[in-house]
Amino acid sequence: MNGKTRIWSDIDFEQQGKQVSWVNLPHSVTRSAYGMIAIPIAVIRNGTGPTAFLMAGNHGDEYEGQIALCKLIRAIDPAQVQGRVIVMPAANLPAAMASARVSPIDGGNLNRSFPGDPERGVTQEIAHYIDSVVFPMADLFADLHSGGSSLAYIPFGSTNEGPDADLNRRSLAALTAFGTEYSVIWKHADPRYSPGAAIKRGLVQIAGEFGGGGSVNRRMLRNVEDGLWRVLKHMGIWDGPTAPAPATRYMNVPGLDWHVHAPSPGLFEPATDLGDWVKAGDVCGHVHFVDDPGRAPVPCFFKRDGLVICQRHPARVERGDCVAHLAVDGV
Ligand code: CA
Repeated sequence: MNGKTRIWSDIDFEQQGKQVSWVNLPHSVTRSAYGMIAIPIAVIRNGTGPTAFLMAGNHGDEYEGQIALCKLIRAIDPAQVQGRVIVMPAANLPAAMASARVSPIDGGNLNRSFPGDPERGVTQEIAHYIDSVVFPMADLFADLHSGGSSLAYIPFGSTNEGPDADLNRRSLAALTAFGTEYSVIWKHADPRYSPGAAIKRGLVQIAGEFGGGGSVNRRMLRNVEDGLWRVLKHMGIWDGPTAPAPATRYMNVPGLDWHVHAPSPGLFEPATDLGDWVKAGDVCGHVHFVDDPGRAPVPCFFKRDGLVICQRHPARVERGDCVAHLAVDGV
């Protein structure tokens, strides 16, 4: 757990200007005895100032952030930077290249792997590199998610609450600068997740969910792109024009009671759409049995009041799949 990373790079994090390169994770396999997994990274530095670390591809099948960060790498002019921007657009590269949530190499879910361990396989090694090498250089961390293959979200920026009230206040200010129609404050910070690990390192952290279903949504992509420039400006790192932020509505997800899970395997017919407000006891949907059409569909119900911010994307469900979750008003 305290081992040193084997990941190496030709990147000089102190160098002025723009560098676009890779960090290399040694990975010896039959096809390539002395091979490396080359994980893309960019460092843009000018003068001195704070460091923003922007990341996507934590889950490989969530695309808006991956595309937004590739565009930002090409667009950003070091002359307009004061400080440093570190960008990893495909942090779990094996998962990103497989269009999968988890790594095809070891099944690792990067967002359950922090703080990582260089002795426990490639996904843990990536988490460990981010936590032990990149996080200590950064002041702000932005981790861009979407619903992935299995979920669809209404777009929102988010932050996780930690034990430090002042850090929470600064993260909320960054989230407000990011500026999405909804801003979600997660009321927990599991240290296995990237925001929880970032909080332990004392970083201002924001994240968000933009779309899903394994697609790229143009409106949500624009949301991410505009928000990133606003956050860099908020941090004093970037000095350029930004699109005005929309008014935001602060929401939170109080707990698992605001989730609904499939009661049976089958085909799920939702009874709501994303953005609907529901009451406790309302029908969330029905599971149908197309191989046994005389059998009555099994309903499932919302247990709490709230706004439907997330729904399952594929129709086929197994018992226990999350089919929807809610958020409620308030910071
Ligand atoms: Ca995700």
